[in-house]
Amino acid sequence: SLEGKVSLVTGSTSGIGLGIARSLAAAGSAIVLNGFGKPEDIAEVQARTIAEFGVEVRYSPADLSKAAAAADLIAMTLDTFGRLDILVNNAGIQYVAPLEVFPADKWDMILAINLSSAFHTTRAALPSMRRYNFGRIINIASAHGLVASPFKSAYVAAKHGIVGLTKVTALETAESNITCNAICPGYVYTPLVEAQIEGQAKAHNIPREQVIRDVLLAQQPSKRFASVEELGALSVFLASDAASSITGVALPVDGGWTAH
Ligand code: NAD
Repeated sequence: SLEGKVSLVTGSTSGIGLGIARSLAAAGSAIVLNGFGKPEDIAEVQARTIAEFGVEVRYSPADLSKAAAAADLIAMTLDTFGRLDILVNNAGIQYVAPLEVFPADKWDMILAINLSSAFHTTRAALPSMRRYNFGRIINIASAHGLVASPFKSAYVAAKHGIVGLTKVTALETAESNITCNAICPGYVYTPLVEAQIEGQAKAHNIPREQVIRDVLLAQQPSKRFASVEELGALSVFLASDAASSITGVALPVDGGWTAH
């Protein structure tokens, strides 16, 4: 059980981050949500999480493309709860274009949100984790943290980078009761992916089953999406005492993609 623990999940107003936040809440942890969205939708998620799991839930709209906002998000968590036990660096964006025409501002933005924000939150969170001699840092990388695809230069670079940051964080905390690991999902079923399935099916006039198999999951041997619940369950395990000796790893949850 994670009762008495405090978790911050960045980018948790939708998709994987929300799924992980819900799993951590179900295990008893207080939660700080973060990310963008309509205020009424976020208020609804917050109220539902409190009602379902009976844990304290706070929300911050911190924009993690900004270093100061990332540090402030940790400060707000510590001000509110006095501690931060589980930090999940999940916020991320994607942009797809060939290198020659990849916009430089998109490169900077992806590196800032997908990589640098985890540096800023981690360094701000470590002093409190060291004080309580407990910490779990979970970085949501990607199969693209381990292998590449064309047209995703910034994303692949940032995700490889966060796997490197994970290893350094693990080494610097190895003698304390703090671990740092990366989860490397393949394609995960989220509302975003559902929209892509529908879009591609319409655009190419092919059935959605074929879009899933031949377009989206072309690289994923299982031909099945991972679910946000699977990633939530893995996060709860990595946060548990049973996972104390697991640190510095990049764990694929990709239906065999990176086994190719
Ligand atoms: P999503 O778009 O559903 O969610 C992204 C979250 O990040 C949202 O809550 C959004 O508001 C937030 N966010 C975006 N920019 C932000 C900013 N500047 N500051 C703070 N929050 C911000 O995406 P998702 O599919 O749930 O992806 C979550 C993470 O998982 C990302 O790091 C992504 O790279 C990674 N990932 C996703 C997949 C997949 O198939 N969906 C696969 C591998 C890795």
